[in-house]
Amino acid sequence: MFDTHAHLDFEVFDHDRDELFNHMRNKNITKILIPGVSPELWFKQLAVAQQYQCYFSLGIHPWYLPENIDTALEELEHQIYLNQTNPLFVAIGECGLDKLRPEFEQQQALCEQQLQLAKKYQLPVILHAVKCHALLIELLTKAALTKGGVIHGFYGSVEVAKQYQKLGFKLGIGGLILNPRAKKLHKVVAELSLELFVIETDSPSMSPENQLDKRNTPLILPLIIKKIAFLRQISTVPILEQLNRNSLQLFEL
Ligand SMILES: [Zn+2]
Repeated sequence: MFDTHAHLDFEVFDHDRDELFNHMRNKNITKILIPGVSPELWFKQLAVAQQYQCYFSLGIHPWYLPENIDTALEELEHQIYLNQTNPLFVAIGECGLDKLRPEFEQQQALCEQQLQLAKKYQLPVILHAVKCHALLIELLTKAALTKGGVIHGFYGSVEVAKQYQKLGFKLGIGGLILNPRAKKLHKVVAELSLELFVIETDSPSMSPENQLDKRNTPLILPLIIKKIAFLRQISTVPILEQLNRNSLQLFEL
């Protein structure tokens, strides 16, 4: 299994990261992508990615808006340049738009510039999108990216999902699918082509409801697979195969 979105570099994993990676290996969770979120955190992110041989992306998350956007973007491009030949470096992001967070105009500027970097460096992009699908679809249409990307932690209707599909994007399916009230998402996963999806956990966020450990980990991936199998009424084997193929294709591995 490939967790395409897990912040395993975050501090909450510092005390037991080795142990967690051992558990993951035992459960056949062998590939991880650690997304970038902020210039201050890239150094540690890259060190963790290198140590545990995880894939990583470089970007600035809308929750980590820098004081000076231009300087931060220069730093980002410098990091991209430095890592260009690193085989673990596979995408730009995570970047995006979050209507529930402040300074939306700045978020948009930061996001659009990162889309341009994805285009310039011919890389897929990892997007965070909360309550802003219409605008994001507009920006992506305008940007006309060649490598596409993923809408991580997707939540939206079948119609919205189809628009992303048309733009060549995949949808990241995470712990939200385990929520019995996430009907819209269940419909998307049951009805659309399996080629559209990749799996993720967004660890340490997005703990499934009723989970005792408030910290989410990639260890919930088998539950997500089981739920997809239940929704599509097929066995887990072809799902695992197809989702794995999708991730490898998306990140050109
Ligand atoms: Zn994230």
